[in-house]
Amino acid sequence: MMKSPYWIDGPAVISFSGGRSSAFMLHQIIRAHGGTLPDDAKVIFCNTGKERPETLDFVQECASRWGVHITWLEWRDKSVFCAAFEVVSHNSAARNGEPFSALVRKRRLLPNPATRFCTGEMKVKTIERYCKQVLDWSDWSNVVGLRADERHRVAKMRRRNDSGKDAWETVLPMAEAEVTKRTVSGFWQRQPFDLGLPNIKGSTPAGNCDLCFMKGFPTLMGLIRENPESADWWVEQEAALTDLVEKTSGAVFRCDRPAYGKMKQLSQDQGDFGFEADEGLPCMCTD
Ligand code: SF4
Repeated sequence: MMKSPYWIDGPAVISFSGGRSSAFMLHQIIRAHGGTLPDDAKVIFCNTGKERPETLDFVQECASRWGVHITWLEWRDKSVFCAAFEVVSHNSAARNGEPFSALVRKRRLLPNPATRFCTGEMKVKTIERYCKQVLDWSDWSNVVGLRADERHRVAKMRRRNDSGKDAWETVLPMAEAEVTKRTVSGFWQRQPFDLGLPNIKGSTPAGNCDLCFMKGFPTLMGLIRENPESADWWVEQEAALTDLVEKTSGAVFRCDRPAYGKMKQLSQDQGDFGFEADEGLPCMCTD
């Protein structure tokens, strides 16, 4: 009999981003295992502190409805907190960007599209440290919810596997099962609960960090227009780094766009920006 793409051979991390696709994948994996995950398959969600509250609630609801344990991790400054990460919960998770702003201050740098150390530190390395230090694993499978319609990302992941650079091998069951945005949207229409963020043509523009610099410009402007205060944390990071290191030119997340303060102002002055069917780059534990 052919093995289901959702059958996981441990040790394995199931990377849960808190989005609809990775939740779909988690559901299918649980089902393939008859309702209970093997002991050596761990579901991990990394909280940056900038996820929307709806995302945190969704992660919690998936765990409680599907009877699965999800480990919540947050990055920590190693010089202060020797493990470089902390296990948190839905109750104790940061909600004001604390891990992210601590990382930015530690690095004395803002992440940007070319140097996306936010993903690398708060997700990829945080999971790696947890697997090595807490689970005592030396190699494992990293199960990621990339769909078949994310061809470039799937190809990139496969190339990375071939390079043998990591302690883990990335496994992409949704790509293998030919799952697309449509499959995922159809699944959520049939469920008694859902992620409380708008689904625009199968994408979640407000997913991941609320105003991630990787989101499309119209999407960011639309999100800021809807909730102008959401820009304040991003404005503060740019101001803090300007004070710390870029006193003359001003620190920005992207030099090909206005700073967040300017975007906030523009979003109020100008007309409707609309949303793109855009999630930016999915910020996964694979990037
Ligand atoms: S969602 Fe964006 S800002 Fe947040 S960790 Fe990922 S790349 Fe960085």
